[in-house]
Amino acid sequence: MPYDPNNIFARILRGEIPCKKVHEDEHALAFHDINPQAPTHILVIPKGAYVSHDDFSAKASDAEIAGFVRAVGQVARAAGVAETGYRILANHGRDSHQEVPHFHIHIFGGRDLKGMIPKA
Ligand code: 5GP
Repeated sequence: MPYDPNNIFARILRGEIPCKKVHEDEHALAFHDINPQAPTHILVIPKGAYVSHDDFSAKASDAEIAGFVRAVGQVARAAGVAETGYRILANHGRDSHQEVPHFHIHIFGGRDLKGMIPKA
C-alpha cells in the first residue's frame, strides 16, 4: 500500500491537527490516543512516512529504528508505567484492523491488561 500523505497522523506531524503531545525528538512524536483503551494509552509514531511496521522494518534506516525504539521506552518510563508494566502493540494491515496508515505503536498501561488478544 502506498503511503497516504493526508492520513491523520501525517496531518498531526505537520501540525495541521492538534494532539496532546507527550514527547518529540528527531525520530519520533508521542501523544495521547483520542479514544483511550486504558488509563495510559499513548501512541508513538516515527517522523518518517511509513505505512506500518512492515514498511518501517523494511525501509527505515538503522538510526530511525534505533531512535524510534528508544523513544517508545523513554515515553513509557516517563508515563510512569515501566514499574507496574505496560503493553506495546502495532497493527499492520487487514487482519489487525489497522485504522491509521502511518506506523504507530500503542503503549497501554495503568491497569491489569488481562489476556493478550480476544479469542476468535
Ligand atoms: P490502529 O487501529 O490504526 O492501530 O489505531 C489507531 C488509533 O488512533 C486508535 O486507537 C484511535 O483512537 C487513534 N486515533 C485516530 N484518530 C486520532 C486522532 O485524530 N488523534 C489521536 N490522538 N488519536 C487518534
